Amino acid sequence: MLRFILLALLLLLIARAFWRLMDGVIEAAGGTTRSRAKSSAKSSAVKLVRDPICGTYVAPGNALSSSAGGTLHHFCSEKCRTEFVRGRKAGSA
Ligand SMILES: [Zn+2]
Repeated sequence: MLRFILLALLLLLIARAFWRLMDGVIEAAGGTTRSRAKSSAKSSAVKLVRDPICGTYVAPGNALSSSAGGTLHHFCSEKCRTEFVRGRKAGSA
């Protein structure tokens, strides 16, 4: 009887180890895209805004900005901001 219990316990341990292994394999096979999506979501958590002049994505924290018509625009460089302001003035005139 004791032998049977030990055998059952051993089988249970083997089954558990097997399932853990299978979980690992499944995660390794399908998890690469999932973790990639996670990391891309993380990087987009820092919201990037598009420079309306050249189309470059800039982080608002360290970008030049100009508020026009109540909307704050961000630019990669002084050149783009100047161009944007000039363009706006030309458009409104
Ligand atoms: Zn730019």
